Amino acid sequence: MRKKIVAGNWKMNKNLQEGIELAKELNTMLSADKPNCDVVICTPFIHLASVAPLLDSQLIGLGAENCADKASGAYTGEVSAEMVKSTGAQYVILGHSERRAYYHETNEILKEKINLALANGLKVIFCIGEVLEEREAGKQNEVVKAQLEGSLFDLTGDEFSNIILAYEPVWAIGTGKTATSDQAEEMHAFIRGVIAEKFGKDAAENVSILYGGSCKPSNAKELFAKPDVDGGLIGGAALKAADFKGIIDAWK
Ligand code: PEP
Repeated sequence: MRKKIVAGNWKMNKNLQEGIELAKELNTMLSADKPNCDVVICTPFIHLASVAPLLDSQLIGLGAENCADKASGAYTGEVSAEMVKSTGAQYVILGHSERRAYYHETNEILKEKINLALANGLKVIFCIGEVLEEREAGKQNEVVKAQLEGSLFDLTGDEFSNIILAYEPVWAIGTGKTATSDQAEEMHAFIRGVIAEKFGKDAAENVSILYGGSCKPSNAKELFAKPDVDGGLIGGAALKAADFKGIIDAWK
């Protein structure tokens, strides 16, 4: 049975003190009312080491939002997968559309990052998704398939078992415009088919595919009710404990 997951992406929000407060609040809430799914929070690098000891790791996993495409050395300002792992984090988001668009991360660069993350024992939340023009041109399947092929298709089956996929139509991220649950299901089923062709039926059945893009407490239940939607990657609504909890509770 594949895992149901709700993961938060804090992006570049919250200073250290604010981040610690949010992590504590969430930990208290989920200790009092246990989730029915895996919960992960992905924070800026500077929060990781401080937040890790505050979380009950049975209830909340911790992840970074990025890592370097190099293992170590003279790469000023970069943070390696090994460094992320050493904070106590277990996950890393890679391939977020903001990284692809603003920092020019290509499928090739992401492949390097994925390899390093997996080699250091991190689970990867790998984001894929089309921009509005691609959807309007009916090219969403081809775009998403190329992203999967370009970054994941050299992995072994064992390595692939540490990948979580997040379908995030770029036109729905931070825009308030959610994909309909039918649009999400259609793409998730397509993605599962692509994975089945490459890694086999079991791998496709076992991989969790999250939806991301303006997911909130009011629409999470309908999205998560779809058979191929295994949870969400949550941006804006992960910044308030009550909203994030509202989405987690959609699994109840
Ligand atoms: C995201 O950035 O991963 C995301 C889904 O953002 P939002 O929920 O704010 O649309």
